[in-house]
Amino acid sequence: PTHASQTHVVVLGAGVIGLTAAHVLTEGEGSNFKVTVMARDMPEDLTSQAFASPWAGAIWSPMGRSDRLDQWERYTFDKFWSMIPTGLVRRLPARIYYGVEDAEEASWFRAIVRDFRVLPSDHPLPANAKSGVRFDTFSVNPEVYLPWLKSELEGRGVRFVRRRVHSLDEACEFAGENGAVINATALGARSLLGVEDTNVYPVRGQVVLVHAPNIKESVNIFPAGERLRSTYVIPRASTPGIVLLGGTFQPHDWDTSLSIPAAHGILARAKELVPALAEPTTRIHAHNVGLRPAREGGPRVEAQLVDVPSKHPLVPKQSGASTDTKTIVVVHAYGFGSSGYQQSWGAAEEVVRLLKDNLLQRCDV
Ligand code: FAD
Repeated sequence: PTHASQTHVVVLGAGVIGLTAAHVLTEGEGSNFKVTVMARDMPEDLTSQAFASPWAGAIWSPMGRSDRLDQWERYTFDKFWSMIPTGLVRRLPARIYYGVEDAEEASWFRAIVRDFRVLPSDHPLPANAKSGVRFDTFSVNPEVYLPWLKSELEGRGVRFVRRRVHSLDEACEFAGENGAVINATALGARSLLGVEDTNVYPVRGQVVLVHAPNIKESVNIFPAGERLRSTYVIPRASTPGIVLLGGTFQPHDWDTSLSIPAAHGILARAKELVPALAEPTTRIHAHNVGLRPAREGGPRVEAQLVDVPSKHPLVPKQSGASTDTKTIVVVHAYGFGSSGYQQSWGAAEEVVRLLKDNLLQRCDV
């Protein structure tokens, strides 16, 4: 419809969620949207600990479930799987061990992954494991994948503006009359005026990257009753020989500095899980710390109609902004915690659907 043809959408946030939403928004010939990605941290800021996306595994791995998340994850899995021939996405054989007897019980995700099998009872198990499964999954390398998403978007005419935004008003003013905003600010949603979502919190994650070219399989263990003590080994996509060892899972911990004891602990647990890592040829490549942008109650993907300028007492008046009140469609997309990559494409589809539905409704009023 012609009334949607000029919609300017400001995507606030340039992590995997904002970039994927912008990608879906600009898909196909003659997209109806003019898109600006506005963010403090950009996809090329691969050493910034102020956002989560550079620090991820980034693998599809079972995390937890609900019908909505299952749908996003299934869609995302199939999308990444279809991208394997491009070389951006690595197909990975994976094993998961459990500290409980019945792996079948734990394996609700068999319908999402490929070639799923419960390990036979005579399969040798590591210490602390009582059962296990194997399947095929995928990983991507954020250092390659995020710049790739950005260059795709630039090729489609998407503009990138580096700016720390203080309030939702500011983004809405930038979007302009009849514009819309996608709020993909992750942990930033806690302090973005007009959003101020105190359910948002960090889950600190520390990992070690090693050079270990013989490791070609992802291995993960969930000891019984210790969900937060999972140990994982993930061969990196796009950088042959590099393997990510994790990790820590520390809710409400904002510390982005390296913990040396944690690094020792990660190395010891990973070597126990995958003895080949103990070979003298294994070299430490890097130590990383990132904050997963989690949210009580799970991700918020939801549309909201926002009147600007708002009456918020702390929001500064925009110089040169009009004083007429207008209603802007905002779609929130934050709080993805440990699963931003593995839910990205499915969540982005829902974000864009919500955006389009709400824009149409606005035109109907
Ligand atoms: P972010 O990447 O944090 O991006 C937020 C964006 O918003 C940034 O551009 C930031 O600058 C911008 N922003 C925030 N506030 C403002 C503001 N006020 N003004 C302007 N811009 C603002 N996920 C997986 O799926 N698989 C994995 O294997 C995996 N492993 C992980 C391992 C570790 C150690 C860690 C730390 C994370 C892992 N994750 C994994 C989680 C994944 O990294 C996150 O879920 C994902 O990156 C979240 O993406 P996002 O776009 O929501 O947020």
